[in-house]
Amino acid sequence: MKQIKMLRFPLPRFTLLLVCCATSLFTQISSAQASPAQTSIAQSSPQPELSTRDQAAAQQSAAAAASFDQVVDRAVEREHFFMAQMKQLHPLVETYLQNLKQDKDLDAAVPTSDVYFLGRLDMSDGTDDRAFTSPTTAGLGKRMLSKLSNVYSMKFLPLGFAQMVVLDEDFQRKYYDFTFVRREFLGEVRCIVIDVAPKKDAGKGRFVGRIWIEDQDYNIVRFNGTYTEAHRNSYFLHFDSWRQNLRPGAWLPALIYSEETDRKSSLGQTLHYKAQTRLWGYNLKDFRRNSEFTEITVEAPQAIQDQSQKMQDATPIEAQRAWERQAEINVIDRLQQIGLLAPKGEVDKVLQTVVNNMMVTNNLDIQPEVECRVLMTTPLESFTIGHTIVVSRGMIDVLPDEAALAMILTHELAHIVLGHQLNTKLAFNDRMFFPDERTFERMDFARDRTEEEAADKKAIELLNNSPYKDKLNNAGLFLKAVQARAPQLKNLIRGHLGESLLNGDATRMSSLMTASPQFDPKKIDQVAALPLGGRVKVDPWNNQLELIKTKPVAVTTAAEKMPFEVTPFFPFLTRLGSTAPDKAVPVPEKTAAAPSGQ
Ligand SMILES: [Zn+2]
Repeated sequence: MKQIKMLRFPLPRFTLLLVCCATSLFTQISSAQASPAQTSIAQSSPQPELSTRDQAAAQQSAAAAASFDQVVDRAVEREHFFMAQMKQLHPLVETYLQNLKQDKDLDAAVPTSDVYFLGRLDMSDGTDDRAFTSPTTAGLGKRMLSKLSNVYSMKFLPLGFAQMVVLDEDFQRKYYDFTFVRREFLGEVRCIVIDVAPKKDAGKGRFVGRIWIEDQDYNIVRFNGTYTEAHRNSYFLHFDSWRQNLRPGAWLPALIYSEETDRKSSLGQTLHYKAQTRLWGYNLKDFRRNSEFTEITVEAPQAIQDQSQKMQDATPIEAQRAWERQAEINVIDRLQQIGLLAPKGEVDKVLQTVVNNMMVTNNLDIQPEVECRVLMTTPLESFTIGHTIVVSRGMIDVLPDEAALAMILTHELAHIVLGHQLNTKLAFNDRMFFPDERTFERMDFARDRTEEEAADKKAIELLNNSPYKDKLNNAGLFLKAVQARAPQLKNLIRGHLGESLLNGDATRMSSLMTASPQFDPKKIDQVAALPLGGRVKVDPWNNQLELIKTKPVAVTTAAEKMPFEVTPFFPFLTRLGSTAPDKAVPVPEKTAAAPSGQ
């Protein structure tokens, strides 16, 4: 079975296969480490040339709304359309925040604690989010905006970050002064840059800052600033909010960076943090519509197919396997349906290649075949569901190299080899009909200490037979970095559905640490863990993942290593279907508002 699998890859020979994987996944060590200063330079440097057709289109629309006043009117109109659209859409919203403190040794701000929110956005009645991870925050007022309501305890409200998708719930020309700044490209999209300030009596909670308007349909694609203050003891945070062209004519919120470096509260405390908010899962209805079909034709377990060929009842062992397989399929379908698991894609294949390398060198033949899938979220975790290995997006981002990835995958493979079981209560379909918010309560794939220790032992044995055997230095260093940062990053280095890298005081695969070099955060050429967001790119519409293919950026100071840290976003904006000959036709407003409209 596995020989057939190997042939699917372009390079049939085993050693080349590894190289192939390494170049696609782990060529770059520090691509996400561009500092804000660097990125702003990149932004003003020469932009990619547009095709003649694009230039013509740009000139045409520039002529169509020649006056600045017309541009502003169109942008205001599009923003109202945007708000109407957002009321129909319910993407997942994830915010990960790190509080910072200046570290004299490193000459950089380092994380001292962290906060994590995951919820689903619901703007049908103001901005709201149903939190998956912090149920206590439900029922807050609709107009909380991004303020710190309790300055004394420096609490952040998840709703505040969700609010940053909205420029102004009631964006009206009469409330603001608009000042033209310049034209500028964001990625391949030419934009009109405008400074926006509320007029004197425009009311509280208005946006103040800069907006970027794309110059074909006049949608706001980025806004950067804050809201004017509401109360004496509440603070609005600064943010940089990016939208992407996810549907014809629709630019939807995708990425928000928020940061404060020395904001003083009225009580004299200093606010110092950075946070990333990601949105995805806009189009989950499609999956629901197709799921029944997929289950029957593609996802049917091997055991069940065999039975139908034989026209006989399953033997007891076959029945047990089919039952376990059913539980596995139920859970995976459910996780994908609610947007927590990415659909099958290219990143899975890279993980699969590493797993296949382990299986071949260890002569393992496991049925049904082991599959790999990616959890869409940031916290570093991995787990198995039956014969499926799940690794989080955040974990893939921060791993230093392919051998470290092999370490993570092999630990999970070991659980499968050792026959550690999935709780088959999930084979009953009714157990899957719980609301999204309860997912983290109802599904728990963490293992007990005995199984963890057994898996570690088995994994070391498997790795020792593999081509990664002599390349595990960075894997050991990665674990040391995890250990070093765990006290500050409790919400990142933790399993929400599955296993954490730390189990009480024990670190997973800890025997790899003894052989690895000394961990030194100040050493520039020692990269133990990468910043978040450097490897995996998310399509927020359909949750498809791809690996980011950028050239490595050399780290010049220890401060730029930023292990496990969040950084600002600078997505390369593109127009949907910009490579297709015809420009996408804007959908009429009523149908475009439906999330599954296409
Ligand atoms: Zn484990």
